[in-house]
Amino acid sequence: MKDKKNNEIQKNSYGMTSNVEGMTDDRWQAIINNDATYNNKFFYAVETTGIFCKPSCKSRAPKKENVRVFLTAQQALNENFRPCKRCKPTNENLPDNEWINLVTEYIDKNFTEKLNLVSLGAITHGSPFHLHRTFKKIKGITPVEYIQHIRLNAARNYLIETDKSITDISICVGIPNSTYFITLFKNKFGQTPVQYRKFHRLMKNKEE
Ligand SMILES: [Zn+2]
Repeated sequence: MKDKKNNEIQKNSYGMTSNVEGMTDDRWQAIINNDATYNNKFFYAVETTGIFCKPSCKSRAPKKENVRVFLTAQQALNENFRPCKRCKPTNENLPDNEWINLVTEYIDKNFTEKLNLVSLGAITHGSPFHLHRTFKKIKGITPVEYIQHIRLNAARNYLIETDKSITDISICVGIPNSTYFITLFKNKFGQTPVQYRKFHRLMKNKEE
């Protein structure tokens, strides 16, 4: 009995397991068709975003393997999923700072993917305009600036810690246009990636 219970309570929102038992064909159809007749019969959460929704939510269809099914909103909350801003599965507004935390976490984990204001809005269930404005209000910079900041910091680590080429690094951090990458890098750090790497290694040799 105890074991069964443990199986039912699987990992939290960022765990790797998904609640396959809860997903039926009917429920999956309800999710992809935004079927309101299933509202309050179940809720679904998306592991990659940490957000949960009503079946009727008009948000972008998730990947099935990332979806978990819950019978009550409270169960989803208990596992650290946050209510979607658009369909409000708890009938309450998700506070802006909590929403922006989710967006920030999503960027931190997925900055190597193609991300822009429109795709980010679709993924995190807010309009691009609203996302831009709210993010700026809370973080002081725009989502696009934040994405860039994370990418360039990652690039800096690659330059220091690896011998990857500049082209490879630009691809690894999600800025596949290497000319553009070099421009952005220089604007932020005052040196080109090559200069930065050389300078850093010179300093390191001096210290040793
Ligand atoms: Zn929703």
